[in-house]
Amino acid sequence: MNYQAIVDAQNVFFNSNSTKDIHFRKTVLKRLRTVLKENETFLYEAIFKDFQKSEFETYVTELALIYSEIELTLKKLNKWSAKKSISTSLANFPAKSYIMPEPLGVSLVIGAWNYPYQLSLAPVVPAIAAGCTVIIKPSEIAKHTSAAMAKLVNENFDPSFFKVIEGGVEETTELLKIKFDKIFFTGSVAVGKIIYKAAAEHLTPITLELGGKSPAIVTDSIQVKTTAKRLVWAKFLNAGQTCIAPDYVLVKDTVKEAFLNAVVEEIKSADYAVRHDNYTQIINTKNFTRLIDLIEKDKVFYGGKIDENERVIYPTLLTDIDFDHPVMQEEIFGPILPVITYQNIKEAIEAIKNLPKPLSCYAFTKNKKEREAILNEISFGGGAINDALMHITEHDLPFGGVGNSGIGNYHGKSGFDAFSHQKSILQKPFWLEPSLKYAPYSKGKLKILKWLLG
Ligand code: NAD
Repeated sequence: MNYQAIVDAQNVFFNSNSTKDIHFRKTVLKRLRTVLKENETFLYEAIFKDFQKSEFETYVTELALIYSEIELTLKKLNKWSAKKSISTSLANFPAKSYIMPEPLGVSLVIGAWNYPYQLSLAPVVPAIAAGCTVIIKPSEIAKHTSAAMAKLVNENFDPSFFKVIEGGVEETTELLKIKFDKIFFTGSVAVGKIIYKAAAEHLTPITLELGGKSPAIVTDSIQVKTTAKRLVWAKFLNAGQTCIAPDYVLVKDTVKEAFLNAVVEEIKSADYAVRHDNYTQIINTKNFTRLIDLIEKDKVFYGGKIDENERVIYPTLLTDIDFDHPVMQEEIFGPILPVITYQNIKEAIEAIKNLPKPLSCYAFTKNKKEREAILNEISFGGGAINDALMHITEHDLPFGGVGNSGIGNYHGKSGFDAFSHQKSILQKPFWLEPSLKYAPYSKGKLKILKWLLG
């Protein structure tokens, strides 16, 4: 495939100014919603082939987020894309100042496999909304969903403003040689660095949505059952293959036993054994092998059960873990939950601060002092108090990492901003032009300027 020709065509289309029309953008977003809604069964079938994800989880964690992003954008787009007046200093009287969001241009969205629809299509919503053209490069690892998106997008949209290009490392490497006006990447820290370097060659602005080890801190001022219920759901959803899943738990020693027992009860009641409805596979053999190597038999408090033929690892709790254990050296990205005990909150906070800045952090506590210490002292992308994962559903909360977990954010207005340039304009009439700033200079002029400019 001639990638340069596709990008050239998108540049021509962008320069035709068609995407500057808000009505055009809204029409494309509505068309995207219709295409997805009319083909939901096809999308469910594709994701089931990739990792046996159920219709329930696919709707709740993928399609619903895309639909609500489209709804919000359609409602707010006029406001987001309007010129914003700001105050003007006396030095420029009589003038007005405003900020005019303009689309960055031709954009490239590179998706990850774990929520293949959401991670490829949710960034497309703000890209289209901002007036960019888009090329999606979905993850080749979820090959059926990649093909499904390619089919639906390429059969329903003009490639000069919206196109899916399938492929893996080789194809992405080729694509990255081309100059884009924006690259939006979701994936691992290691590949994020490759994307950042490639973007730097063209000074292309980037958003990097990366991963890392997101902690959950469980203090002693909690409702144990509700804490366990929320954490179990957040950890084992998508079989733990979630960038913002609680990677590990730091639990106060005095509640450890009650907490672990409650977690086991919750796992049992979720009935993950009814697999096709309630639980997904591990995406491929490489990840399956990597994960089972992390399960040290002596450390298993609960679970450890696997089904090699089906590529399934059932929820597994590890205890007596310290920060030197192999499971704590990398993002787990699977249904294994290490539980580490702490004695005082300072110790827990310090331990987290010793690791790269996480994408998310979850604190379970009714204690205001502890909550504020966690929020003020630990740097992380975003998170929740007394819950996990659900912050992603709030579209007015910018979603993204910090440090190793990413650069930039999206969802709602922040997504629109990620694909926009804020053009700043000072607009003057002709009818007045004081001679103050012009030569010949004088002490009198300087005195007035000092008063005006401060
Ligand atoms: P990945 O980095 O392996 O792949 C992501 C994308 O990059 C894919 O489209 C892939 O084709 C492409 N890619 C892979 N190697 C490449 C290379 N050498 N050159 C150019 N492109 C390349 O990530 P993944 O395995 O798909 O996803 C898992 C990771 O993504 C985890 O670390 C997870 O935490 C993170 N993630 C982050 C978010 C977020 O929103 N922050 C969401 C989901 C996943």
